[in-house]
Amino acid sequence: MKIGVPIEIKNNENRVGMTPSGVFELTKRNHTVYVQKNAGFNSGFLDEDYIEAGATILDTIEDVYATAEMIVKVKEPIAEEYGLIKEHHTVFTYFHFASSEPLTNAMIDSKAVCIAYETVEAEDGSLPLLIPMSEVAGRMSIQQGAKYLEKPIKGRGILLGGVPGVPPAKVLVLGAGIVGYQAAKMASGLGAQVTIMDINMKALRYVSDSMPNNVISEFSSEYNIRKHIKDADLIIGGVLIKGAKAPKLITRDMLKEMKPGAVMVDVAVDQGGCFETTKPTTHQDPTYVIDEVVHYSVANMPGAVPYTSTMALTNVTLPYVIKLANDGWKKACENNKALQKGLNIVNGKIVYKEIAEAFDLEF
Ligand code: NAD
Repeated sequence: MKIGVPIEIKNNENRVGMTPSGVFELTKRNHTVYVQKNAGFNSGFLDEDYIEAGATILDTIEDVYATAEMIVKVKEPIAEEYGLIKEHHTVFTYFHFASSEPLTNAMIDSKAVCIAYETVEAEDGSLPLLIPMSEVAGRMSIQQGAKYLEKPIKGRGILLGGVPGVPPAKVLVLGAGIVGYQAAKMASGLGAQVTIMDINMKALRYVSDSMPNNVISEFSSEYNIRKHIKDADLIIGGVLIKGAKAPKLITRDMLKEMKPGAVMVDVAVDQGGCFETTKPTTHQDPTYVIDEVVHYSVANMPGAVPYTSTMALTNVTLPYVIKLANDGWKKACENNKALQKGLNIVNGKIVYKEIAEAFDLEF
């Protein structure tokens, strides 16, 4: 199969869909890989590395789309890319359709086969292609939160871990899944006083059994959230309802209850956000302030640490890319239940229930 790896053109997205090691594995199996010039540069991979691994370098994004049958990338296509995607393409990438009606309509119109990383689902219900990026974003959310709590960038001016004789900051983490667990782990490591909430008792039990004493687990309810936001310095939003929009756990009216200069990092922004006041931001302009509360809601957080993220992502996508290349999308999805769950839009039809429901479209 002819596989194309374009440059990511979304603002500040520095990851790339395939490493030279992935190219090597595919060319070894007699596939042809076309990599756009400089596609891996920001992740630390040079064109020479790709050539050595067996890739052909193409100059432009148009060349890559025109030549390849399968496109392997990282982020959902943005408007400039919609017209490049055609009926003969299989596109394997993050899509997050439920949060974008224009993207959903564009991919329906393209008649391409869209397989979304975020809905590839293992038998135990876990999402193997979301896990590594959630691990990165969860860990990074505390790094960003700590930074924006600094006074010169409108924060409360509190150090997460405090110092001897001064109490640490209070961190509230919503969701005890991958993002939430990693966030709580980092915050606790810095010495903050952490409360982590979920509605899944299994997740809360795991937190309770494995986290240090400065992490308290609590059941997620509106009552408990309202109680904690009053004295939280940093709130991390990491909830997920698979394939659907995130529930709004912190509403606009609740911001008035919070401390001025508190920071809210909404990692769930790519599914619409779990705070009512969330709107997507970019690494160039990551924050805004509403009711004296600093909001950080960058939709592609791992894009800022491409060295770590590209390798973490491609470690888990490559086995599926190989299956798709060897068998074609139809047979590969028939033979692999996890990959089958990744099918979102096929030749103009939505085949994933929650996406159709999000926009009242035909399923
Ligand atoms: P996950 O499924 O591992 O965890 C989500 C958790 O939310 C689950 O444990 C679930 O029980 C819990 N939950 C659901 N409803 C809840 C509620 N009402 N209150 C409290 N908890 C609730 O998901 P994840 O991998 O941790 O991802 C979380 C979100 O972060 C997703 O939307 C994901 O797309 C997003 N994400 C964003 C970025 C970014 O760059 N912004 C990067 C990676 C992941």
